[in-house]
Amino acid sequence: MTEAIVVLNAGSSSLKFSVFKSFVRAEPALLLRGQIEGLFTEPHFRAWSALGEKVAESVWSRGTELGHAGAVDVLNDFLAHQTADLTVRAYGHRVVHGGLKYSEPVVVDDQVLEDLARLTPLAPLHQPNNLQPIRTLRAHSPGILQLACFDTGFHRHQPLVAQIFALPYALTQSGIRRYGFHGISYEYIASVLPGIDPLAAAGKTVVFHLGNGASACAIDNGIGVATTFGFTAVEGLPMGTRCGALDPGVLLYLIDERGMDSAAIAKMLYKESGLLGISGLSSDMRVLEMSDDPRARLAVEYFCYRVGRELASLAAAMGGLDAIVFTAGIGENSAFIRERILEMGRWLGVEVDHDANSGRGLARISSAVSRVAVWVIPTDEELMIARHAQRALDVRDG
Ligand code: AMP
Repeated sequence: MTEAIVVLNAGSSSLKFSVFKSFVRAEPALLLRGQIEGLFTEPHFRAWSALGEKVAESVWSRGTELGHAGAVDVLNDFLAHQTADLTVRAYGHRVVHGGLKYSEPVVVDDQVLEDLARLTPLAPLHQPNNLQPIRTLRAHSPGILQLACFDTGFHRHQPLVAQIFALPYALTQSGIRRYGFHGISYEYIASVLPGIDPLAAAGKTVVFHLGNGASACAIDNGIGVATTFGFTAVEGLPMGTRCGALDPGVLLYLIDERGMDSAAIAKMLYKESGLLGISGLSSDMRVLEMSDDPRARLAVEYFCYRVGRELASLAAAMGGLDAIVFTAGIGENSAFIRERILEMGRWLGVEVDHDANSGRGLARISSAVSRVAVWVIPTDEELMIARHAQRALDVRDG
């Protein structure tokens, strides 16, 4: 019999999962990963082995509404029938918001679920989807440990000054503050850095998580001290379709002079801005990199320019810079974007090794003379959640 930890990441219309083999007091090992997409339109289930071979696929007819609860049932059926000797010991969930109360992963009980549901107004697009599979599993498998891991958690150790806005302080006290996101990814990078570059891990590192969503985090001796995301995941760096840092006066102008309401503004900020908004072409960096269109070039230039500026801002927040780490879709795969960003860090002592930068996977891409070490490190948020779930099991089982 194989004891397993299942990691779930529930998005607005998809449920991603990873199944790990559980080992007492040791690193979980990936067995399977997969996803069910189109939960409300045309569900499509696929699963792959740890080596990337497809092991299962099913498609439902157009108009089928599985929803998140249905997707959990599909996953459990798959686990029960395709892998008969598997016993699920724990579910680890990616939950976007832990508020101020939850800086560490937490075993879900009634009180925790109530607390997390109360945070829904802070992340209305994500929190309800994240919580739905927890509810379904609590109803179906009440005895199985469920652990919530938070995208905000890693940032709760920042100094207060990094976590506030210069708004009337009563608003700050009521919870309107910088929470930060992508924390599970940053925690994973901080956890592997000591084994990769001990000096960087003990020093001051800026990590760039550049994917469809993009943010950066200043990590000083393993502790997150500043980040670019704020109250919501629309602040900071420009993203695929999200605008990043914006003068709030623009929003007042759009309301007063252009008659836009909050729904129209939210659609624009989250879905029509960023790389897509500037280029008018695509939110996908691969498409933009290959395009000769002047606006596609401007979108790429703006992205690199803003990321390059944040490098200096985050270094200033730490009072120094020993290392830079790139991760996620763009950060791990685009040598061109990394090079453009690092160009803006030359004055900080960053020198790129062009051959190393054109490789793939984990690599040091700074030259021997670079004062700042630069790394590409693939992130693994699922493994980070599985590790926490394993620790929770170990504690529970003594
Ligand atoms: P993620 O959200 O981490 O899955 O990253 C997804 C994004 O990574 C996509 O939207 C692409 O823009 C980007 N991406 C993936 N591969 C490449 C590549 N080889 N070059 C440039 N961008 C890439």
